[in-house]
Amino acid sequence: MDYTINTKCVQAGYTPENGEPRQIPIIQSTTYKYDTSEDMGKLFDLEAEGYFYSRLQNPTNDYVAAKITALEGGTSGMLTSSGQAANFFAVFNICEAGSHIVSSSSIYGGTYNLLAVTMKKMGVDVTFVDPDCTEEELNAAFKENTRAVFGESIANPALTVLDIEKFAKAAHAHGVPLIVDNTFPTPVNLRPIEWGADIVTHSTTKYMDGHGAALGGAIIDGGKFDWMAHADKFPGLCTPDDSYHGVTYAEKFGKEGAFITKCTSQLMRDLGCAQSPQSAFILNLGLESLHVRMPRHVENGQAVAEFLEKHDKVEFVNYPTLPSNKYYETAKKYLPNGGCGVVSFELKGGRAAAEKFMKNLKLAAIETHVADARTCCLNPATSTHRQMNDEQLAAAGIPAGLIRISCGLEDKNDLIADIAQALDAI
Ligand SMILES: *Cc1c(COP(=O)(O)O)cnc(C)c1O
Repeated sequence: MDYTINTKCVQAGYTPENGEPRQIPIIQSTTYKYDTSEDMGKLFDLEAEGYFYSRLQNPTNDYVAAKITALEGGTSGMLTSSGQAANFFAVFNICEAGSHIVSSSSIYGGTYNLLAVTMKKMGVDVTFVDPDCTEEELNAAFKENTRAVFGESIANPALTVLDIEKFAKAAHAHGVPLIVDNTFPTPVNLRPIEWGADIVTHSTTKYMDGHGAALGGAIIDGGKFDWMAHADKFPGLCTPDDSYHGVTYAEKFGKEGAFITKCTSQLMRDLGCAQSPQSAFILNLGLESLHVRMPRHVENGQAVAEFLEKHDKVEFVNYPTLPSNKYYETAKKYLPNGGCGVVSFELKGGRAAAEKFMKNLKLAAIETHVADARTCCLNPATSTHRQMNDEQLAAAGIPAGLIRISCGLEDKNDLIADIAQALDAI
């Protein structure tokens, strides 16, 4: 029986047998005991399923990964220690020195640095494209050695809505997969695999956990990309892995399992970045209410955006489901139930106005974080980007008066009242 996403949030991934714990058990063990060396040997040869060391796999993490896989409509998935690790592993699983990737330029700053600086040092080249480019411009970004396309479904912090079908079409025309970071809408509001994405990544630190409690990431494979049809591009999946007893992942595990099996048995083995089972347990508590929380985040985001748009001390508001927004039509298509609770807006009066506004907020806390139960707020000019002067900020598309507010789960009328009194103080 295929349940709706609401039911999957609560129950998918773990089904206890008679007399077993109702809640997912935290398997707080680094290692696992076997009766014979033969038993363990079969695990190392990937001939049998089971656990031997929690750096590679842990039952608690696997239950939670299975839930997120079900939510995204994928065939296999894994947890990582953070969203950064998830994006790094997803790209590096199919790239190596000499590879090239095409990425939307509108992505999270940490991912931008990962691709543009750190992976470049590893010999992986990236071409950034404007997410609003034409199909011709997008196709022109591909090279002989392109191995993947990357984008964010709703970009953090620009709130750009990715035309997933356009990006998937270009990726597939060039024989490579599309990787989509789906952190902001979560599968409750958007499932990229249904629109043609091949691999989905998450910073579970955000809405999935939803309480600002545990750092984490996830990688989900849609199981549709035919690696063997493009074997020359993906030798890591399509030729024997000498570091793993000569297994050829795409042959042995097929389209449904090859990507995640290789990512676990190679990258997790060699690079670590495993999530702790404690964190996975906390993440699952968040997932159990994700379908209840996301509509409230959207309701609050929409109400705050509409209030700000009408206010005379506000220069402009950026929220994809406002009719005035550049991405309104794209959002209607991909986000019929709304996107997320993050809104950005520019105050008239620049840095001084922003400082005054932030100082007077009572409910909304000043944090670099987004996407948790408590509303939080950030003025990049006086915090994350304070080394830049007003001219540099304007050139980077971050005006000094820009505020990013992540609407939590409080009552929208209280949030609006708090924002209104802080605006009055300017
Ligand atoms: C926060 C974030 C990340 C990084 O995740 P961490 O869990 O902080 O490592 C990646 N992508 C997006 C869209 C994010 O918002």
